[in-house]
Amino acid sequence: MANRNLDQTPAKRGPSKAPRAADAPDSKRRDLLRFMFGASIAGVTMSGDTDEDRVEDQTFVPTNELFNVPDPQETHAEVTEALILKIEAGMRKLAETAIPLIERIEDERTRNQLMAPFELIELNSENPHKNNDRFLADASPLVGGVKWKQEAVHWFSYTADGQANVVAGFKPPTREMMISPDFDPDNICDLLILFHELTHVAYDTTIRYGLQTTEQRDNYLEFHDGSTPKVELVNEIMAYSSEIDMMNLLTHDFLRATIEGGQEIGKVEIDDLMRRLNWPERDRGMFMMLLELAKLYYPMGNRIVNRIVNRNSNFEPEYVKHMAKIHGPEGRGMEVYVYDIEGNRELYDFEGE
Ligand SMILES: [Zn+2]
Repeated sequence: MANRNLDQTPAKRGPSKAPRAADAPDSKRRDLLRFMFGASIAGVTMSGDTDEDRVEDQTFVPTNELFNVPDPQETHAEVTEALILKIEAGMRKLAETAIPLIERIEDERTRNQLMAPFELIELNSENPHKNNDRFLADASPLVGGVKWKQEAVHWFSYTADGQANVVAGFKPPTREMMISPDFDPDNICDLLILFHELTHVAYDTTIRYGLQTTEQRDNYLEFHDGSTPKVELVNEIMAYSSEIDMMNLLTHDFLRATIEGGQEIGKVEIDDLMRRLNWPERDRGMFMMLLELAKLYYPMGNRIVNRIVNRNSNFEPEYVKHMAKIHGPEGRGMEVYVYDIEGNRELYDFEGE
């Protein structure tokens, strides 16, 4: 079950047909997205220009149009288009329930972390290149082979991908959200997996806004683009914490209270929690995995994340160790990185302590 939300998923894509007309991006929500480390990106200039101007000049005519051959990539783009509509509708519906609950959270950093996925979805809804198939079709003849550059740092694209066996997975180097064609916006499990991946988008966005030099940018891209799958522990800790906190909010704090109550959580309690969340029976395995994580997460909860973000290097509760383990050599086989107190990235020490 764990592989349903792996973060790095392979993808292959070719250029496709001419781009669609799109509305100019609207920057009215730009001040809503806030850094997960407490800073704000309010005031960061979003470009109002899009590739539309350059598209007007192009003389390139796709071969398929000359010969009127049906384009399989266009069909793929239509699948992605339909998925984007489902994603945006599903997240907006979740937002209606979740945002009033998030607003009651006292801790500001946690509140911002839980709001970020909803804000990113809204900001990105105005992105004319959110459909990756059409984005690549735009980008390849026009911008020198740079096939991942969105005009706004916080924009990202979606690609339908049924091969990776994951509901959703985010690829930081290209800022691509891979989405299973089976994604169901009425399934809370699918929405929470997407919420987890959107927390990765927020993390990536935050890092990118903080990059000061081309060297820093190259290092960042190199970290994510190498042949060895790597993970920053703080990134996964945030994503799983968001997923668990959101689950808990949707039970009106019943999940946390049940765990902190200390009594045995047997089948009756699990069935009750699943019923409160409207969690589908077919995704019971994912629920069990998240419940086990939640047992390690509470009672400290978001205080764990606050201390990790503040780089308290001697702080390592079972939740953090477990998170390292499920991503490391005994788990998904990734290299796991942490930050020392000075902010230097180093390999997680599995032998330590
Ligand atoms: Zn993740």
